[in-house]
Amino acid sequence: MNQTPIYVTQPYLPPLDEFIPYLEKIWENKRLTNNGPFHQQLEEALCEYLGVNHIALFANGTLALVTALQALRITGEVITTPYSFVATAHSLLWNGIKPVFVDIDPATFNLDPKKIEAAITPQTTAILPVHCYGNPCDVKAIQKIADNYNLKVIYDAAHAFGVEDEGGSVLQHGDLSILSFHATKVFNTFEGGAIVCPDSKTKQHIDNLKNFGFVGETTVIAAGINGKMSEVNAAFGLLQLQHIDAALERRMKIDELYRQELSNIAGITVPDVPENIKRNASYFPILVESDYLLSRNDLHEHMKNCGVHCRRYFYPLITEFPMYRGLSSAFQGNLPSAEAIAKRVLCLPIYPTLDSDDQCRIIKILANASYRCKLP
Ligand SMILES: *Cc1c(COP(=O)(O)O)cnc(C)c1O
Repeated sequence: MNQTPIYVTQPYLPPLDEFIPYLEKIWENKRLTNNGPFHQQLEEALCEYLGVNHIALFANGTLALVTALQALRITGEVITTPYSFVATAHSLLWNGIKPVFVDIDPATFNLDPKKIEAAITPQTTAILPVHCYGNPCDVKAIQKIADNYNLKVIYDAAHAFGVEDEGGSVLQHGDLSILSFHATKVFNTFEGGAIVCPDSKTKQHIDNLKNFGFVGETTVIAAGINGKMSEVNAAFGLLQLQHIDAALERRMKIDELYRQELSNIAGITVPDVPENIKRNASYFPILVESDYLLSRNDLHEHMKNCGVHCRRYFYPLITEFPMYRGLSSAFQGNLPSAEAIAKRVLCLPIYPTLDSDDQCRIIKILANASYRCKLP
């Protein structure tokens, strides 16, 4: 087979000629970084688009996570999920915090609120859940536990750009929410990220921390980091924002077609998604069950041989990496749902420029592999 390879995602690039005027502006005013005009405009535009009050832009989502924990002075132990990208837990280690892993709900792949309380100790200071694949956590149940035990809640919302529940943006929950604008995400600035803050005082503090801890010219109040977003990245974000609604619409169309076509394939489960919310179709996970012809890993390999590069998000679990494996919450059997899902999950290609021919090719590969298994 000699077809062009299809990857799990393709960054969304607006026409190049639309970006040139932004670059000319940067050359003209010679502001390259440090809260320049495009940086300020993007913060405002994102607040408006997302329906949130304050946003602090970052060079990437990981630095945003690390700084969010520093800003709230989180210490001791933090409850988090093993079913995420490794940066979620790494941000805790960078702050000298001990991650305590709690299992996920096998229906939503998000932290299971029913299992959180049993993991709380006198050292626990916060909960760090992830809105996995952009599907909102049980934010009410999590907030109730946080209130009862006086814990902070920081949402890793790297997948949840543009997601809205009954109350509006899902980014308004908890004490802070973190976004990633990495090239692979729904909205990208090549590299980038942000912290959604509830008030201007918190934003100011976070802005100081992302600029080495400087307050004014000569005062440094903390060991802050360089987390600033450059003008080139901010300008690209402004341009990307003009195309985001069309991109999200196209993602939803692809999501719907997959849902329709894959529901009848024996051995493939398409996980349910919440109703009555505005989704972003950022990922398309399927579960490869034991009655499918191929194992999940064999299907992954088979598709690769057909030129379709899926990803096993999230496998391995964070708890399997060497810096987490030894933790008491990482032991085999403590996280049965996360372990079971990680073995079965496969994320299919989904991105705005995936055309219907390519999507049909992907669906056919999945259907054919299952069909053969039912023949005598
Ligand atoms: C992408 C991602 C991050 C890290 O964001 P970067 O911008 O790549 O640093 C953190 N958490 C989750 C869940 C992610 O998917």
